[in-house]
Amino acid sequence: MSEKKGRVFSGARPTGRQHLGNYLGAIQNYVALQDEYECVYCIVDIHALTTMETTVGLRQNTFEMALDWLAAGIRPEDSIIFIQSYVPEVTELHTYLSMVTPLGKLTDLPTFKDKIRQHPNNVNYGLVGYPVLMSADIVLYKAGLVPVGVDQAPHIEFTRETVRSFNYRYQADVLIEPQMKVTQVPKVIGIDGQQKMSKSLDNHIEIAATPEETRKRIMMMVTDPQRIRRTDPGDPDVCNVFSMHKIFSSKEEVDQIDVECRRAGIGCVDCKKMLAKNMNDYFVPFRERRADFEKKPDQVWEILDDGAKRARVIAQATMEEVRAAIGIR
Ligand code: ADP
Repeated sequence: MSEKKGRVFSGARPTGRQHLGNYLGAIQNYVALQDEYECVYCIVDIHALTTMETTVGLRQNTFEMALDWLAAGIRPEDSIIFIQSYVPEVTELHTYLSMVTPLGKLTDLPTFKDKIRQHPNNVNYGLVGYPVLMSADIVLYKAGLVPVGVDQAPHIEFTRETVRSFNYRYQADVLIEPQMKVTQVPKVIGIDGQQKMSKSLDNHIEIAATPEETRKRIMMMVTDPQRIRRTDPGDPDVCNVFSMHKIFSSKEEVDQIDVECRRAGIGCVDCKKMLAKNMNDYFVPFRERRADFEKKPDQVWEILDDGAKRARVIAQATMEEVRAAIGIR
C-alpha cells in the first residue's frame, strides 16, 4: 500500500444516472477520501444480476454511472474505478465466505426482507447471498473504510462479523474489519418528503438532469404538510425543501427562509424556485465535465479496463493469503 492512510472501498449497482441520494450520501465521500486514502470504487454488475431478469441496458447503465462518478470528481489517475465482474477473484472469495455464514443471518437481514417485498417472484440464491458478495468486495481489497449511505449499515456490520468468523475459523489474521463512513447527509429523503430517495420509488432527482428537469422535480417536492394556504406559517424543521436549502444555498438565504417561512413571509413556490436556481448553479461544473466525458466513451471504457487491471493485482495478492489461510493451496 502507498504512503496513504489506508484503503477505501465502495461499490454500487449500475443503476444508471445517479440521484441526489447517491451523491450526497455516498459519492461526495468517494471524492473527498481520495486525498488521504487509496480508493477503490466498483460498479457492482454481479450484484445487479440478483434482481435483474434481463441485462438489456446494463452496459448503458454502467456507462452512465461511470460518467457521473468521473464528473463528480473521482480521479482515475489516483483512484481505481472498475467493473466488479472484470475481477473474478471476488466470486471465489464469495464462495469461501459463504462457508462461514449462517443462512439465518442472511434471511434475517432487513435489507433481504425489503428485497423480497420488491421482487417476490425472483427470490434467488444469489439474492440471499448479496451481503456475502458485498463482504467479499470489501475484504478482497483489504479496505478499512467504506463510504456508503446509512441504509448500508446492516451490510457493513454483517461484513465485520464475517471477517471475525473467517479469521477465527482459520485462525488467521488475513481479513480486515472495515468501518463505515457516512456523509453529513447519511439519508437523503425523496421528493415525497417521507421515504429515502430512491430510483425504484421514483422520488429522486438525477444529478445529471437538465436545469429544467431539476426545476420540475423540485416544484413537485412535498413541503410542510400542515402548510395548506400561502398565508399559513410553515415549519422549516419538517420541510425537505429546507433540508436541501441547507446543502445548496448560502447561509444568508437559509437564515432568511428559516425566518420568513415561519411567518408566511415566503411561499413554498418561491422557496422552491430559489432552491432550483441554487442546485442548478451548484451542478454547472459537474454537468460540463459530464458532457465532456460523454463525448469520449472510449476513454471512459479504458479507464474502467485499466481500473480492473489495477484492482486485480490487489485481489490476486489477497486470494493467495486467503487460500493459504484456508489450507487449500
Ligand atoms: P446499491 O444498492 O448498489 O448500494 P444504490 O443506488 O441503492 O445502490 O446506492 C448506492 C450508494 O448510494 C450506497 O452507498 C447507498 O447507501 C447510497 N444511497 C442511495 N440512496 C441514498 C439516500 N437516499 N440517502 C443516502 N444515501 C443513499
